[in-house]
Amino acid sequence: MLTINQLEASYGGIRALRGVSLRVEQGEIVAVLGSNGAGKSTLLKAISAVVKPTAGEILLEGVPTPRVPYRVVEAGIVHVPEGRQIIPNLTVYENLMIGCFLRNDHQQIQKDLEMVYHYFPRLEERKKQYGGLLSGGEQQMLALGRGLMAKPKIMMLDEPSLGLAPIIVNQIFEILTTINREQGATILIVEQNAYKALSIAHRGYMMTTGLVEAEGNAQELLERENLEEIYLGQA
Ligand code: ATP
Repeated sequence: MLTINQLEASYGGIRALRGVSLRVEQGEIVAVLGSNGAGKSTLLKAISAVVKPTAGEILLEGVPTPRVPYRVVEAGIVHVPEGRQIIPNLTVYENLMIGCFLRNDHQQIQKDLEMVYHYFPRLEERKKQYGGLLSGGEQQMLALGRGLMAKPKIMMLDEPSLGLAPIIVNQIFEILTTINREQGATILIVEQNAYKALSIAHRGYMMTTGLVEAEGNAQELLERENLEEIYLGQA
């Protein structure tokens, strides 16, 4: 579904991506892991056309992705950014509707809204509340719901666990697994929380300083000794 070949990107003199290759197949959850500054967010931003790659290619179903952010969404790639970026003075419902601003299939939009409320009942309970009044966990749910409202072919999640209590992270990751299983949602998830991400992923890639250092199925990566020590610098 998504194929990245030898992708490079820089900020001035800083080479954030130094030839990253990876793939995500339809229906997979793929985790990209690595410590602070490894280049994970830059990878997602390059796919979203927020950051311009200096080399390499990004293919969606074999076709190069557009280089304008809203067209990337139109092509079927949605980015749920780090920090959620909920609009605080819009209601939960209005925030969700932003997710489908490029769609006009109104009946299907209504069905997708029901699907989002089904997976995140909290959002339905709070649909008239302002986004800014939600807890961190609810805001993350809203960001995921808004992503789903775009009806993407692939959803990219940047650090969905960031700043959330472990019990909330568990809840959210469980919902992601269910959506993947029941809806066949394809998910590329970037996380510093390697164990958590690998516990729901099918496959994973470990990044350090702009390079993929290791890849494999999630179970293999989880069984590596000193996973955190070697790749995440957190031991
Ligand atoms: P984090 O978990 O902290 O977001 P990351 O793995 O996502 O880490 P990136 O944010 O992609 O890493 O950063 C990769 C490198 O690029 C780092 O060295 C970082 O300092 C640098 N960088 C990121 N954004 C910018 C920017 N806007 N301007 C300059 N340098 C940047």
